[in-house]
Amino acid sequence: MAERKSKKSIARRLPIHDFQDDIVADVRRSKALVVVGYTGSGKTTQLPQFLYEAVCSKHGMIGVTQPRRVAALSVAARVAQEMKCTLGREVGYQVRFDDCTSQDTQIKYMTDGCLLREFLDDRELSRYSVIILDEAHERSLDTDILFGLMKEKFLREEEDSVRRHQLKVVVMSATLDSGKFSKFFNSCPVFEIPGKLFPVKDVYCNMIKPEDVKNPSYCSQAVRVVMDIHTDQPQGDILVFLTGQAEIEKTCDILYKKSEELDYREDVRDPDVTSLLILPVYGSMPTEQQQRIFSPADSGVRKCIVATNIAGTSLTIDGIRYVVDSGFVKQLSYNPRTGLDTLQVVPISKSEAIQRAGRAGRTAPGRCYRLYNREFYDQCMPEDMLPEIQRTSLTSVVLSLKSMGIHNVLRFHYLDPPEERMLLEALKQLFYFDAIDRSGRVTPLGRLLVQYPLPPGLARAVISSGSHGCQDLLLPIAAMLSVENVFIRPAEGKKQVEAQQCHQRLAHLAGGSNDFTTLLTVFQKSKESDSPARWCRENYIHWRGVKMALSIHQQLQGILDKQTQSADFPRQKLAGSQSELLRRALCDGFFNHIARRSATGRSFRTMDGHASTVFIHPSSVLFGEEAQLDWVIFHEVVWTSKVYMRTVCPVRYSWVQDLLPKLHQLDLSSLSGCQLISDEPTPTAQDVHKPLLGGQEASSSLIP
Ligand code: ADP
Ligand code: MG
Repeated sequence: MAERKSKKSIARRLPIHDFQDDIVADVRRSKALVVVGYTGSGKTTQLPQFLYEAVCSKHGMIGVTQPRRVAALSVAARVAQEMKCTLGREVGYQVRFDDCTSQDTQIKYMTDGCLLREFLDDRELSRYSVIILDEAHERSLDTDILFGLMKEKFLREEEDSVRRHQLKVVVMSATLDSGKFSKFFNSCPVFEIPGKLFPVKDVYCNMIKPEDVKNPSYCSQAVRVVMDIHTDQPQGDILVFLTGQAEIEKTCDILYKKSEELDYREDVRDPDVTSLLILPVYGSMPTEQQQRIFSPADSGVRKCIVATNIAGTSLTIDGIRYVVDSGFVKQLSYNPRTGLDTLQVVPISKSEAIQRAGRAGRTAPGRCYRLYNREFYDQCMPEDMLPEIQRTSLTSVVLSLKSMGIHNVLRFHYLDPPEERMLLEALKQLFYFDAIDRSGRVTPLGRLLVQYPLPPGLARAVISSGSHGCQDLLLPIAAMLSVENVFIRPAEGKKQVEAQQCHQRLAHLAGGSNDFTTLLTVFQKSKESDSPARWCRENYIHWRGVKMALSIHQQLQGILDKQTQSADFPRQKLAGSQSELLRRALCDGFFNHIARRSATGRSFRTMDGHASTVFIHPSSVLFGEEAQLDWVIFHEVVWTSKVYMRTVCPVRYSWVQDLLPKLHQLDLSSLSGCQLISDEPTPTAQDVHKPLLGGQEASSSLIP
């Protein structure tokens, strides 16, 4: 009891505390429970502690999943602090490439992707007593898959009369549409944490109109609104919703300047709020910075948090009275036109807009400044977002499921099934990479691929590099591709020019021939330097990105080393320089991201059957060199005014010649022109790939 008290002196009393006993009783009583409570009611930080204090942890760990990495890290840190233990001991976290847990860990926060990987090794999750699927309303792809896997496990337990291991599941959501989750788990009980928000006044700023939907300029608008709030409105912190790291940093830069200018203008200062403390928040934010967003500002200082959607429901920041909503979010979507996953800035949904506004009314009445107008809200914002499973590529997930022995991926227990077309596309991709065979079974190569926390294509490039003997060049690149863009591009002025020159110099150092080797050079140069952090600063490179890449590199090296020790590891010695071997390994991983320059102009056509028109991104070292190029592969595309390929490498046709037939049963002799690939999806795709789904025999092996 004394323990409980001291804890609450740190975590002030939250709405959920009134229901501790009820919730624990519910969890004891039923195998599954849905808990609904508005953001900040204490679900994520408190509920696992309730269960820990009750008996649950005697039978295994309490695992809590989060769709976002930052949330897992910061919440674990908070709970460790509340429980007065060292992070990594009783309370730990695990996110991709970063495991901070130990033998003692009882409460483990992790990304949903990490738990998915644990299922690969142990489908019974025997180390756990309870799994808490948090932020279920976000409907992230991996959380959705976890739903299905948990259901499967339950069905297995029902059949198993011995009942050795009984796992419980708690689903937590910040929105009220919990019926679906409950129904999924056999209409399990729902616990609603009562509570309400203070009124939030909506202010439509009329700056973004329906016609701006394709090209909104919300950064400068957001700055204007923030400065107006700061000068006109009484105390209370500000939370700005933008869409991504680069623009958040840009916006913060401008805000720093503006607030400095303001310090000289005595006339506009509110005597109670003298200055503005500007804090960026985004997914790849370094851990040291995270804690600052939660600490209350000094008296007289107004906090202004500039965040991605992460501050929507994943992180609860106290003291927010003003929300500035851009109305947009950056979203990964599969684009059927190009056949690629693209990061796109799209309007948020109406329910998301309501969530964002709610952040202003947690502890007192607040205001939400919507940069858009009412028409934009009515016409451009959908009611709800499509769940990720229905809009992104499923390649990794399908490989994971198949590796767990779930062969018939069409009949898996989906909360909302993805379109069949998308599953077929994933199977096709896996077939391209030789991860599955014609009958849809995971191949020996597929078993190697699934061990990497990387997309299958990149994992395949890693394995090829091991097999060709150029892993020293490729592994750093794979690591650099796994972190966010490391190139700092200042918003304007002299610094922008300087940064550009620095980046050009680095590209030149790398040989100036492709963007992948520029990444390699950044990795090597910073690693060799006496002070990598300083080197990065001087070269306009994000040190934290590089630092992360250094650690990822070691982990990838570890996996590859283990694999190459096995006699079964595929080995293929090729003639050629290291640089050529590197490019060939890249081809093995990205041959489905291949484009050929059109006969005229700067545009390229993708050659994977979609034949979409794409361009080289202006940040590429090959931008402006298009006339010299023929075939290129690329890492990803971004879609702004055009579809741009980012991180590009020229390749020889002879390197991909043997790979391309896998992409489409094309008559290669006619590959001299570009129009031969039809825009239409192959009508027989279904039939051709039917076996990949697992036929009769496969469906009977599916666990009921
Ligand atoms: P919910 O999951 O219901 O949205 P949380 O458990 O995340 O609620 O938050 C409960 C309280 O804990 C909030 O007041 C929030 O500000 C605080 N909190 C959460 N994470 C941290 C952190 N890393 N540092 C400080 N306070 C935190
Ligand atoms: Mg939460």
